[in-house]
Amino acid sequence: MAQYAQVPFLLPGMHTALQDSVKWNSEWEKLTNQFKHVSPAQFVQSSALQLALESDGMDTSMLQYQGFLGSLVALELALAPDTVRYLSGGLQSKWTEADPAVREKHILIGLSNACSIAKNLHDARIYCGRDFQLSRLRANGEIVLEWLTSLVMPANGRKYSDLLDAPNYIPDPVWDAYAEQQKQSGASDSEKLALGTILVLRSKLIFHVVQYTLKSFMGEDLPTYNVPKFSKKRNPQSTVLQKSDIEAFTKMMLGKSGAKAYAKENKAAWQDRQKDRKEHCTFVGCMKANTGTEKYPRCKKCWENMKREVVYCSTQCQVADWKSNHKQVCGKPLSFDSVSKPKLTHARTPEEMAPIHATEADAPLTVPSTPTTVWRSYI
Ligand SMILES: [Zn+2]
Ligand SMILES: [Zn+2]
Repeated sequence: MAQYAQVPFLLPGMHTALQDSVKWNSEWEKLTNQFKHVSPAQFVQSSALQLALESDGMDTSMLQYQGFLGSLVALELALAPDTVRYLSGGLQSKWTEADPAVREKHILIGLSNACSIAKNLHDARIYCGRDFQLSRLRANGEIVLEWLTSLVMPANGRKYSDLLDAPNYIPDPVWDAYAEQQKQSGASDSEKLALGTILVLRSKLIFHVVQYTLKSFMGEDLPTYNVPKFSKKRNPQSTVLQKSDIEAFTKMMLGKSGAKAYAKENKAAWQDRQKDRKEHCTFVGCMKANTGTEKYPRCKKCWENMKREVVYCSTQCQVADWKSNHKQVCGKPLSFDSVSKPKLTHARTPEEMAPIHATEADAPLTVPSTPTTVWRSYI
């Protein structure tokens, strides 16, 4: 297993996703076929090993994981009104009856846009290769619709307000079985974090693919996202693979000129991401992007003790985060359990409050038989 973690693979460049999505996707599908024998356990263990070897990486990765969870919840809450509108507007039959070639076009737009948002999402596609095979999605229109409903309307009796404690994950027999096995075997924090991160990114990626695909299909404007900025303390000694190893590997795989083109493209993609990257409020109930020129003030104790960048857009957010869980983790090393639940119970902005109107927040989440009633509970 340790060997596996040392094997890098070349992902089709994020930067080409929007430029030539057909070619980009066919490269992905080739890669997916090569990796179809890799089990969730192998993915998780190699990723956990990487985390464990990055001596200072765990804390940053925990914080990043907490951010992913919070943003997944926010995305799900944002998609809920769209879902109700789509389902009550006859999208289901339009989509399933559409020519597969038409579906393919929009799915490709969905995939390429979703993978272009952030490097993490782009890379996550390798963990869920089977999910995103264009031929499968093209042939079976139901899959995208099932994703749409299970993202915001889980069947297992969860309530809308439950979303605030934990996001909805898209069920998958293989990953679910592995998660269950991991729970029983008493996994380490790095294994739990590796699995948690993979699952939350898988759901985020599905969310974005569904959103872009259906918006494109309906002829609506495609959304844009600010990429959150996480401070990564760079320790050149801590990575499993050194830069020179990666260079040698790409040269071996692609030849000298191929490696050069790959490095150039990676650099361009990196510069693109930097451009869109913004500091975000740490409080998961807010996560507002900093669009001003001044940096957000940071938590002094977290910075001094841990060099952890915990920043807030306002004193209200700092107080709300302190009350919800920052008190337990401030200035101390993080553990998986202390970060694994997004706490959104305080200080949401009016816009963010909109989808969870207090009086009906506890209405069970079911697929609407009478769309207008359910719609009302979201606004
Ligand atoms: Zn805030
Ligand atoms: Zn703190």
